[in-house]
Amino acid sequence: AKADGRGTYRFFETGMDARAQARRLLEMDLRAALQRDEFQVYYQPIRDVASGRVVAFEALLRWNHPQRGLIAPINFIPLAEETGLIVQLGEFVLRSACTDAVTWPDDVDVAVNLSPVQFKSPNLIASVTDALAASGIDARRLELEITESVLLQNSEATLATLHELRAMGVRISLDDFGTGYSSLSYLRSFPFDKIKIDRSFVSELATREDSMAIIRAVTGLGRSLGIVTTAEGVENDVQLELLRREGCTQAQGYLFSEPRPASDVAMMLDRPRLR
Ligand code: C2E
Ligand code: CA
Ligand code: CA
Ligand code: CA
Repeated sequence: AKADGRGTYRFFETGMDARAQARRLLEMDLRAALQRDEFQVYYQPIRDVASGRVVAFEALLRWNHPQRGLIAPINFIPLAEETGLIVQLGEFVLRSACTDAVTWPDDVDVAVNLSPVQFKSPNLIASVTDALAASGIDARRLELEITESVLLQNSEATLATLHELRAMGVRISLDDFGTGYSSLSYLRSFPFDKIKIDRSFVSELATREDSMAIIRAVTGLGRSLGIVTTAEGVENDVQLELLRREGCTQAQGYLFSEPRPASDVAMMLDRPRLR
């Protein structure tokens, strides 16, 4: 689209393709949304498999768009990463998550996703420190989830950051384990407290022998290394039972609850799924 007659798109260069224009609009929309407070943190419970108790909630970002409704992170996080806006967005999530979690029972932790861009940003340690101080939450209740892509480059700086975070008392989870460039050497080289087994393995648990074998291997590895294992995307009782049999520590998924607003946390805690 060129100028629409009323000049709305006048600033676009002619020749810029429709996708680039859509991106440009989304980027302006993202910046405005931060100012207008349109982002909201949702929470999904994580349960201990053996006891059924809710041990943590994962903070998952949502964009409450005035026209487009609730927008999932897949639709805006990549652009937020490209533009660097993810740093500010990530700080918002950290602060919100710590502030919300401090009102929960103190044996319930909070997990926050860190974008690789945010992880590499020089602000990271300061923003974690600030979120902890502003909320007054015990650092040991905060888990930070990072993906393998963080570990691929500049591993010395990465290692230093991970050690600094752990020295503060914060715990580190390796998210989406089994996707991407999973390498067992990561588990030896970096100090992880938790491995999150990617949903793709869990969803095929009952139907594919190899997924079962991978889950068995990862839970076994976790056990021998003293690392907690969490299965993502648990949607039914069959999957949960198989995970229990393999000794997987924690489970998370629609079987227990979809991510919900902070105001629903009490309700999610209130409904123990005892079996
Ligand atoms: P993730 O960290 O792997 O989060 C798990 C995703 O799986 C969430 O999608 C969650 O809603 C979804 N999920 C949970 N249980 C089930 C289930 O039983 N079945 C299925 N099919 N899906 C399930 P969501 O909330 O759309 O988030 C997608 C991704 O966006 C996240 O994947 C994470 O990588 C990213 N993300 C979300 N919030 C943040 C954030 O605050 N910061 C950063 N950097 N990334 C975020
Ligand atoms: Ca995650
Ligand atoms: Ca994940
Ligand atoms: Ca994922």
